Amino acid sequence: AKTETLLEVNNIEVIYNHVILVLKGVSLKVAQGGITALLGGNGAGKTTTLKAVSNLLHSERGEVTKGSIQYRGERVQGLDPAAMVKRGVIQVMEGRHCFEHLTVEENLLTGAYTRRDGNVSADLDKVYTYFPRLKERRKSQAGYTSGGEQQMCAIGRALMSKPETILLDEPSMGLAPQLVEEIFGIVKDLNEREGVSFLLAEQNTNVALRFAHYGYILESGRVVMDGPAAELRENPDVKEFYLGMS
Ligand code: ATP
Repeated sequence: AKTETLLEVNNIEVIYNHVILVLKGVSLKVAQGGITALLGGNGAGKTTTLKAVSNLLHSERGEVTKGSIQYRGERVQGLDPAAMVKRGVIQVMEGRHCFEHLTVEENLLTGAYTRRDGNVSADLDKVYTYFPRLKERRKSQAGYTSGGEQQMCAIGRALMSKPETILLDEPSMGLAPQLVEEIFGIVKDLNEREGVSFLLAEQNTNVALRFAHYGYILESGRVVMDGPAAELRENPDVKEFYLGMS
């Protein structure tokens, strides 16, 4: 069967504050039903790439100055972030982007606000089947839950918008290895059982290449290597420069 391309980023350049060139021609594709990893060290441009796709650069004084971004074959550059969510593309930001003063459940419910359709409580139950910890903590104020629970809450909230593609920024950040495994395991389940496609930005190459199908490696705003995850894992340069580190 032919795999469909959902997202196609074609040779984009991104400039911050009119002068700082951060992406110097990045191209990548996200296949429907796949987990695509965007790898690279601190400051390589992973977050910037995700924000370019979800149209979140504007508030950071960043701008796509060259190239194109297409989703399902349609140009999506310049749409507002809410319009991207309507098209099924949602970003889960790096760090703990839950509303601290709301409960876990209230946070999840805020994720459904763009929708007009469907049964929100059934979707809430579905989120709880993937994240039983969130169910246990549903009445807790999000600010008092652990880092791992907040990461789960952020993913759960994104799920409430019924996304086709989740742009997931650095889910492993600041978490103990066991929790990283748990979260990646859930990402894999969501991919396999719900058909959610992922573009996953990660510094933790080791973990990301175990769960992803395809990977791109960014260095200083350029893609320096890409390939099926299994091939990247065996590549001597990847082993030396990336897998040794994490
Ligand atoms: P990290 O894992 O640290 O988030 P990253 O690969 O996601 O790294 P980016 O956050 O995209 O990298 O940053 C790429 C470069 O762009 C860095 O040099 C960073 O300092 C710069 N940068 C990011 N945001 C801005 C901004 N709002 N204004 C100016 N420069 C920025």
